[in-house]
Amino acid sequence: MEIKEQEKPIEQILNSIKDKNLRVVGACAPSARVAMGEMFGLEVGLNLKGKLVTALKTLGFDDVFDLDFAADLTIMEESAEFAERILSGRNLPHLTSCCPAWVKYVEKFYPEFIGNLSTTKSPQQIFGAVVKTYYAEKLGVSPNKLFVVCIMPCLAKRLERLKAGINVSEGLDVDAVLTVRELGELLKQKNIDFANLKDTNFDSTFGMASGAGVIFGTSGGVLEASLRTLSEKLDKSSVKGLDYQINRGLDGIVEREILIGDRKLKVALASGLNNAKMLLDRLKAGEEFDFIEVMACPGGCVNGTGMPLYPRDFDKTPLVKKRAKGLFDTDLKENVRKAHDNIQIKNLYKTFLGEPNKGLAKQILHVKR
Ligand code: SF4
Repeated sequence: MEIKEQEKPIEQILNSIKDKNLRVVGACAPSARVAMGEMFGLEVGLNLKGKLVTALKTLGFDDVFDLDFAADLTIMEESAEFAERILSGRNLPHLTSCCPAWVKYVEKFYPEFIGNLSTTKSPQQIFGAVVKTYYAEKLGVSPNKLFVVCIMPCLAKRLERLKAGINVSEGLDVDAVLTVRELGELLKQKNIDFANLKDTNFDSTFGMASGAGVIFGTSGGVLEASLRTLSEKLDKSSVKGLDYQINRGLDGIVEREILIGDRKLKVALASGLNNAKMLLDRLKAGEEFDFIEVMACPGGCVNGTGMPLYPRDFDKTPLVKKRAKGLFDTDLKENVRKAHDNIQIKNLYKTFLGEPNKGLAKQILHVKR
């Protein structure tokens, strides 16, 4: 199949919904659920995942799953990969890879660090991979009968799905990406009164997520979520798992020394590519770190360019802080706050994927670098 950039994603999605031979499967990024309300006069930072599910079902989606479930899978894979690097001492510092704009930046301007990028796919691409393999098998249908749509915070995610070597199915694992803004405009066109929609639960197959998956949408979330799982992997007696409050503001660079058992890890995050550049230049100058999280947008995905539009000179800082707080508050309320404690994740490894970062999991949830 020839893979082309999608010119009219909305038209393609609406046509797929009408096509009785296709099953349309959607998922929403964590950042989408704390921003969509702004387009409909609702309070900033409210977690509106239930309304998003209802909105997509009203449009005609067959299944709506929780992309945070896929974020939990990313955490499982990334922490297993990082643990291996720590034990072997190879490819350190481990650089996160869930932001495609950052990955592109490294490939173009700092190719000497490509080998340090995590091979774990982003939650979007992991979602597409498990839908086109496990879910297709469970339904007993060909993967090309499933049309996968992700609601995401930026256009970089639309391009990510076209990257060479990222797809496990014959076509695309993620068939279409809509930004939060595009979905909001589509709902308005269709006269769907988002503000007054009732809540609907995610469909069950990929419907459960931990608090760790929720905080992926904000700067520091990936690092914090990974440490929750990594700490127990490296030190079985670790009870620290939830104590890593890496970032609760909008600082461009945050550095920490983390003690896991008798191991001291030097970790950092950079939010915004100018800050990432500063950290990369420090690496080039010989400074050592173990794990670095980078998000191209200042503040992370809660500040993506596909979020609700404001005038150019409008100061979005308070909005971005409230969106991030919405995710951290959701995490605090979750019963399960570590990816490895998510029962659906455990079952998927037991019945389908095997061990994290090995065998089938390695084959379909990682890229080659
Ligand atoms: Fe997209 Fe920005 Fe998130 Fe990167 S940080 S994935 S560019 S929204």
